[in-house]
Amino acid sequence: MDNNIYDICIIGAGPGGLSAGLYCSRSELKTLIIEKETVGGLITTTTEVENYPGSEKGATGTSLTQRMCEQAEEFGCEFAYDYVSAVEKAEGGYKVVCDMGEYFAKALIISTGSYPNMAGVAGEEEFRGRGVSYCATCDAGFFKGKKVAVIGGGDTAIKEAHYLSRFAGELYVIHRRDELRANISNVRKIEGDENVKVLYSHVPVEIKGEGKVTALTVKSLKEDREYDIELDGVFVFVGYKPNTDFLEGIVDLDEGGYIITNEKMETSAEGIFAVGDVRNTPLRQVITAAADGAVAAVYAEEYIGK
Ligand code: NAP
Repeated sequence: MDNNIYDICIIGAGPGGLSAGLYCSRSELKTLIIEKETVGGLITTTTEVENYPGSEKGATGTSLTQRMCEQAEEFGCEFAYDYVSAVEKAEGGYKVVCDMGEYFAKALIISTGSYPNMAGVAGEEEFRGRGVSYCATCDAGFFKGKKVAVIGGGDTAIKEAHYLSRFAGELYVIHRRDELRANISNVRKIEGDENVKVLYSHVPVEIKGEGKVTALTVKSLKEDREYDIELDGVFVFVGYKPNTDFLEGIVDLDEGGYIITNEKMETSAEGIFAVGDVRNTPLRQVITAAADGAVAAVYAEEYIGK
């Protein structure tokens, strides 16, 4: 039997893909998960995962998804580390074209997640990795006792600001509206952080520095004035974009580029399913991605059986 032929190929090893991998391999389907970087997906860049029921106290995105990965492997799920550049219709299924090889599967489950947006501020690109960061877990340690800003007012921004406040001396949250978008449970956390100050109705204008970040120019929308805040780091958390470029023309996408699915996680293409953050779902959480993975696995199995 050809080693590159599978019943199910899952693209992306975040919680949705890993859950689908567990269900598919446990149903004795020959299952492959292809991952371009590290197992676990975007949740590995967050700190504590408090809202996945049953997870150990203090569980991190990495520890939780590492266990999901082991569980799938225990039932025979295989992993390949490669970058998927295209998906093509083939006889009896689909061909998955990667940088280092090709795979064939009767059905596909797409769980490629999303990647962080840039804020589009002058200097953001220039100082990326030199004071500008998109990952608090990765970079918080560089800012012990220092002054930093977080751009954004959503759940990610506020949750990560709370985490960063343990490291930073002073922290400014720069939010463009006069109320936060984040859920009240996350807002409550920063309310208790004495070193955190939220600048409402402020937009970032320019990240300045010499070799590394030294200041952020902000504009107060209410006062219609610009001023500089001297600081050492700027963390950007202004939402995400789906990883669906390689699927254009293969499955229907919504106006944001997210994959359109029905309640069985079926896409517009027969035999292709989508789960987790990459699909047009009302809630993007580990638990919803994992649940999507289970649903997709069951209906992918049914599809193959037909
Ligand atoms: P989000 O909810 O889309 O929030 C993005 C934030 O960035 C918003 O406050 C937005 O402002 C701001 N923003 C967007 N573009 C900007 C720009 N160019 N300049 C300045 N500010 C900009 O994204 P998210 O916080 O990453 O969350 C994504 C999803 O994951 C959400 O559904 C969220 O609930 C979920 N999530 C949940 C948790 C949890 O603990 N439950 C944690 C993380 C994420 P406006 O508010 O004015 O639009």
